[in-house]
Amino acid sequence: MADFSNIDGLPPLRDVIAAHGLSAQKALGQNFLLDLNVTAKIVRLAEQARGPDGFAGVHVIEIGPGPGGLTRALVKSGARGVSAVEFDRRAVDALQGLEAAAAGRLVIVQGDALETDLTGLCEAPRAIVANLPYNIATPLLLGWLSQVRADPQAFSSMSLMFQKEVAARITAGLGSKAYGRLSVMAQWLCKVGRLMDLPPSAFTPPPKVVSSVVHFMPRVLDSDAPSFQAVERVTAAAFNQRRKMIRTSLKDYMAGVEALGLDPQARAEELGVQDFVKLACFHDFDVKHKKN
Ligand code: SAM
Repeated sequence: MADFSNIDGLPPLRDVIAAHGLSAQKALGQNFLLDLNVTAKIVRLAEQARGPDGFAGVHVIEIGPGPGGLTRALVKSGARGVSAVEFDRRAVDALQGLEAAAAGRLVIVQGDALETDLTGLCEAPRAIVANLPYNIATPLLLGWLSQVRADPQAFSSMSLMFQKEVAARITAGLGSKAYGRLSVMAQWLCKVGRLMDLPPSAFTPPPKVVSSVVHFMPRVLDSDAPSFQAVERVTAAAFNQRRKMIRTSLKDYMAGVEALGLDPQARAEELGVQDFVKLACFHDFDVKHKKN
């Protein structure tokens, strides 16, 4: 059994916050998890969702460690190492004690996650685990999904906390009200599933909404899969006018609609993930073909 007495001997997170003046800032999406049973459970579920080996041999990247509750659980997991990217200099200072106690298994990087190429932080296999700042959660996710499209080895799993409503959009199935661009992009590239919900009271300060952890496992794609941008373009066109029939919203894609035998009177929410992928593929090919 590994000895985590250094980590377990650290001061309670509330004391770390007080000692470093780490009052929560709304602009940075700071809603902290201070119950170490909760952070341990998130890591346990994220490991279980990967399979029997969990994080063994995997380098875990955390976005926004804040005072370090989730980080403590990650350092104590079976991960090969942990790299954590934090924007707030006060939090980076507050994490120095944990970094020292982790004895080389934790590296804190001060920076903006939106500007950081996470694959440059460590060798594959890599996993991302984060209680995300909600104001930038969707652009962060889309950036990582686009990296997964370009390189299926970029991340072997992602376990991410979102507002429940965003989690519902990611995991929504065909015909559901929440089904849209985010559902198609996420489910095309990854198997997705909700791991757990957390009430506002689990956070300090409590956000207005319930939160959910979503687990993503990248899929192996066909070698002729369309580009990320091609699928983004067709889903944007369809869902930006989701009440319209696709003969209107996808008028630039009618050759594909016909070739694939889709009903021109259908609405975007009636097209499955693979319908969008095939449409993108058809027109991606068309674009490439015309260029050559
Ligand atoms: N992981 C901690 C926890 O669970 O208690 C904090 C989570 S809090 C919801 C989001 C964290 O992301 C904060 O620590 C915040 O400072 C950090 N953050 C906000 N914007 C960021 C950015 N652009 N890049 C990196 N970290 C950011």
